[in-house]
Amino acid sequence: MLLDTGIGIATVYRAVKKAVADGVLSRVELPNSAARFEPAELPHHHHFACGSCNKVYDIHGCPLGIDGLVPDGFQMDGHEIVLHGTCVDCVEQSA
Ligand SMILES: [Zn+2]
Ligand SMILES: [Zn+2]
Repeated sequence: MLLDTGIGIATVYRAVKKAVADGVLSRVELPNSAARFEPAELPHHHHFACGSCNKVYDIHGCPLGIDGLVPDGFQMDGHEIVLHGTCVDCVEQSA
């Protein structure tokens, strides 16, 4: 996303909000982190947040059995899973 073309950040923010509303982007919810967005067309996946470099990695696959956590009578529309830890780059740097 180009930010040096004279477009104000508010304009960019509005564009991002519209893209989310239009289903083009989806918001990645990460605790203690600025909002992140990714293309909504990505297949279902989850994230690994490195506490060392603050990068967020896509992880593929989804644990089975999440449906079983939903209380009786509740309807689940989706879920987010964020793993927290240290990425391989940071593990190697600290080795
Ligand atoms: Zn890292
Ligand atoms: Zn999942």
